[in-house]
Amino acid sequence: MENYHGIVAKQTAFFHTGKTKDLSFRLEALQKLRMSIKQNEKQLMDALRADLNKSEFDAYTAEIGFVLEELRFTIKNLESWVKPQKVKTPITHMGSQSYIYSEPYGVALIIAPWNYPFQLAIAPLIGAIAAGNCAVIKPSELTPVTSKLLGKLVGELFPEEFIAVIEGGVETSQALLNERFDYIFFTGSVPVGRIIMEAAAKHLTPVTLELGGKSPCIVHEDANIKLAAKRIAWGKFTNAGQTCIAPDYLYLHKAVKEEFLQQFKEAITELYGAEPLNNPDFTHIVSERHFNRLTSFLDNGKISIGGKTIPDSLMIEPTVLTDITWEDPVMQDEIFGPILPVLSYSNLSEVIEGIHQHPKPLAFYIFTENSSVQQQVLDRVSFGGGCINDTVYHFVSPHLPFGGVGNSGIGSYHGKGSYDTFSHKKSVLKQTTRFDIPFRYPNVKDGLKKIKLFMK
Ligand code: NAD
Repeated sequence: MENYHGIVAKQTAFFHTGKTKDLSFRLEALQKLRMSIKQNEKQLMDALRADLNKSEFDAYTAEIGFVLEELRFTIKNLESWVKPQKVKTPITHMGSQSYIYSEPYGVALIIAPWNYPFQLAIAPLIGAIAAGNCAVIKPSELTPVTSKLLGKLVGELFPEEFIAVIEGGVETSQALLNERFDYIFFTGSVPVGRIIMEAAAKHLTPVTLELGGKSPCIVHEDANIKLAAKRIAWGKFTNAGQTCIAPDYLYLHKAVKEEFLQQFKEAITELYGAEPLNNPDFTHIVSERHFNRLTSFLDNGKISIGGKTIPDSLMIEPTVLTDITWEDPVMQDEIFGPILPVLSYSNLSEVIEGIHQHPKPLAFYIFTENSSVQQQVLDRVSFGGGCINDTVYHFVSPHLPFGGVGNSGIGSYHGKGSYDTFSHKKSVLKQTTRFDIPFRYPNVKDGLKKIKLFMK
């Protein structure tokens, strides 16, 4: 197995020069990255088309444009973020002042998945640079054209002692994990997340784990059905369902099930055409292995919408399965494809109990006009993040830190959240030497009595 001692040592040495901590250095790096992305927009779109048949619209909105917005937001706000934060000082510390300094961890490892291969590598990088770190990025081997382009662009922009892209598969990832990094930011599946955390534990390296899981979507009896259908179809079938926060399965209230399915079929037609398999812009499944895994679910329950596939081009049309129970194979793991199983319910507590039987989801969606129902689910269901009356959209706000909880992940990022994730918060007390309050010393007369006036 190759070892990456050299690159980590180089980056560590560069980090210790202090250059990456200069605000002007960070801003310049972010600006260079932004310019390069703008200049290479066409190449990026072509790469995403080659790897996943992503349309230009999807490539721009979910990858390129998203990252440009993150960069713009970060560049605009970084000067205020880097300032030490002055906080209150208790009376027991009279004479002193208290500050929180954000300091970079050092050398960060960023491991990215294939489903948004550009965005999920670059969005964490923005946080790493903004916070003053060096970084090694390991992009996914399943999207080789995009990963190669990523390596080329980053290589042209930055010296490798600052930012390096190391392409490769599982072995490369494992070899990197043998090194001592100061931070590991991983996006990918739950089982690999466990491997990452185990490897990080050896060096006590802090981690962010952006994982996945089964994200529920509930349509309550009083929902705006037509709008719910459209917003769910969009969130589920964009990128052919290969989105970590796509609704994984639906819980439909029995009173609106038929109407919803009717509207859902119309919404699919409206968004992707009557024959989505003929739509030249419908995203393909990433690999034959994933295609076979997904098509094996097509005999679960009953196909209510869709169900057709084209094996040669790894395409599966938007598909809805009804007559599903929690025992069906499609309900065992995250689906990560354009297949949407439907469970029905008559009482919301059945739904909440069903969700409680399973790991905490990454995302959660409910469509209802009733604010007490909204509040009830917010109070009772733990999840990474989500929307009321929408799907997926919370992901793209720089003001909402994005991440999982429990099995769906540890930590969060986006906007200032990314800066905070890649910063250690160093608390510092600046004490006066003009006087010395005696109470804390053991030789003070009635010391304990006096201390008890303050510490009670
Ligand atoms: P994956 O876990 O298979 O791979 C992710 C990365 O880990 C890749 O770079 C891969 O090379 C590396 N890797 C794979 N096996 C490894 C091993 N044994 N040891 C070390 N490294 C290894 O995930 P994927 O298939 O690329 O992506 C799909 C998963 O990612 C889904 O579960 C999805 O929900 C999740 N995801 C989560 C988010 C999020 O933001 N929370 C975003 C996108 C995808």
